[in-house]
Parts: sequence; C-alpha cells; structure tokens
Amino acid sequence: MGKRVLVCGGAGYIGSHVTRLLIERGYYPVVIDNLTTGHRAAVPISCPYYQLDLRCQELLSTLLKQEKISTVFHFAAYSLVSESVRNPYKYYANNVQGTLSLLEAMRQSGIQSLIFSSSAAVYGNPGMLPIPEDHPTHPINPYGESKLLVERILRDYHTAYGFRSVALRYFNACGAWSDGEIGEDHRPETHLIPLILKRGVLAGETLPIFGHDYPTHDGTPVRDYIHISDLAEAHILALHYLEHHHVATHFNLGNERGYSVLQVVQASQHVTGHQIKYEFVDRRQGDPAELIAQSATALLHLGWKPEKSTLEEMIASAWEWHRKHPEGFRA
Ligand code: UDP
Repeated sequence: MGKRVLVCGGAGYIGSHVTRLLIERGYYPVVIDNLTTGHRAAVPISCPYYQLDLRCQELLSTLLKQEKISTVFHFAAYSLVSESVRNPYKYYANNVQGTLSLLEAMRQSGIQSLIFSSSAAVYGNPGMLPIPEDHPTHPINPYGESKLLVERILRDYHTAYGFRSVALRYFNACGAWSDGEIGEDHRPETHLIPLILKRGVLAGETLPIFGHDYPTHDGTPVRDYIHISDLAEAHILALHYLEHHHVATHFNLGNERGYSVLQVVQASQHVTGHQIKYEFVDRRQGDPAELIAQSATALLHLGWKPEKSTLEEMIASAWEWHRKHPEGFRA
C-alpha cells in the first residue's frame, strides 16, 4: 500500500484536486474537512473521510495515530481577501489557531512533515516583478498576514522541534480536473474566472471589474494564473523533496506570466464563443495592482514546471467544469 497521508481541507478546491492526484500516484490519502467551505461530493467516495475541524486537537491526534499518517497536506483555511479585511478574527482564528492545533496534534503523534498551502498574498504590493521567493513580505490584508504567520510558525517549529515543511505560495489557481468532474465552487464565488464563466457567460449577467485606474498596461489588475493540475503536481514533488531535505522552506508557484482582468475577459470570450458584458466599478479593498511569480526556485529544487500554462487552456478547463455543472457541487 502507498504512503498514508492526511489531507486537511481535502473537500476544498485545491485540496480535492491534490487528493485525486495522490490517489492516481498510488498514495493513500485520508481527508478531513469541516465542510464550512468544502463539498463532500468533491472527495472521492473511496477515500477515507472525516468531518472534523482542525481545532479539535485531541480527535485529530487520535486520527493521525489510528490512520498511521506519515505526512500532512494542509489546505484548510479561509481564503477571501475582502472578507478577511472585514472580519480579521475569522481569519486568524481559523487559519492561524487551526494550524497551531494541527501542529500540536502532529507533535503528539510524532509526525514531522507538512506541506502547507500558502499564497502570493504574503508579498502585498511587490517592489519588483516577477517576485522572487526572497522578496520582502508585507501582506496588505489579514488573509495574507495569516498565511505569513503560519510560515513563520513552521520555521520556528523546524528550529525547535525539527519539523520539516514546504510552504507553497500559490499565485492565482484556476481550471479544473481533466474530466471536468470537479472544479472551483466557492460560496460566495469571488474569483474572476468562475465569475466570468458562471455569471458572465452562463447567466448573461454584467461582470463588475474592480478598478480601471491601476498602474498596469490597461488599468486593470494583473495576475499570474496557474492551472490547478500544475499546482497539484507541485505538491507531489514537495512530498518527495521532504523525504530528502530537513528544511522549513517555501516556493512560489506561478507561470511567470501576467494577464490583466480585461485580457482574461477577452480570452474567455474567445474560448466560450460568448460575448461578455462588463462594467467598471470601484476598486476592491486589499487588491494589489500586479502579481507575477518568479518560479525558478521551484524548478531548481522540486523540478516543477507548469505544463498547462496558456490562458486559453486554463479557461477551457474551467469552462468544461462549469458548463457540465452549472450548479457546481449542489447538483
Ligand atoms: N476581479 C474583478 N471582478 C470580479 C472578481 C475579480 O475585477 O468580479 C478582479 C480582482 O479585482 C483581481 C482579479 O480579478 O484583480 C483576480 O481576482 P480573484 O478574486 O480571482 O483572485 P485574487 O487575485 O484576489 O486572489
């Protein structure tokens, strides 16, 4: 039997894709999720699954021992930037306190290896582009701050207790599993590509574009979009990496290419063959103008290189999921 790993937040967007890839590669993932934002239907039926909050430390510790877990993948977090600005308590309590509880449960169970889902939000408004991993970190919202705090905690756990960890700083994850059977389904949905496809194309509604006076080539914010299957692949590589490296480190995961909101809208029109209506509205709080990754370090250390990197490819993959499942997992 393959290696037994725990996937915290395995019913969420990124966690459910990593779970599928782990199964495909012969691992034995055990999923926990508190289902506040995740979907039970996103977890394969064959996969051991427990509805559990990270803050239930004793239960978690028992589970880790019973299931003979060797490594933990940690995706269980809230991830809405604007909500984090309005309700920081929610973000620190879940994202930071929840992680501390997980780390303590791991310590009680003698597990020392963790792959953590971090974010480009740790950089805030970057001083240079593309952003290298050693770029200063100045988050501009509580979400980014919560991810950075966890990275710091992981480094301290390495120094004090010998914990090994890789924090993967995702840029803008998008797309869906190759068969279009799982994909992005946030409630409320706030991410650009699903909103364009669900509201703009399927419902024919007008898409609000948050700001057109940013210092970018067309005035709309620029992001580095990265396919979910490329992200998932990086987690498998990080698992191999931790088998041979006693470190607490972090890598950027992006395409090293930026697209503006308007470019994403245009590419979506091209992929779907539908005209998308949009209007410019005020900027969204906490949004930086431009985020583009330098991902050379992930290539050097993990051997990771994105494969599905054109914008059209990524949108087509997301479109396959939304077209087949207009109600998401609710159907
Ligand atoms: N965006 C927009 N309209 C929307 C949703 C998003 O203009 O309805 C913009 C948002 O301001 C940002 C970009 O799209 O510049 C990507 O936003 P998303 O929420 O997908 O990811 P983020 O970069 O915030 O993690």
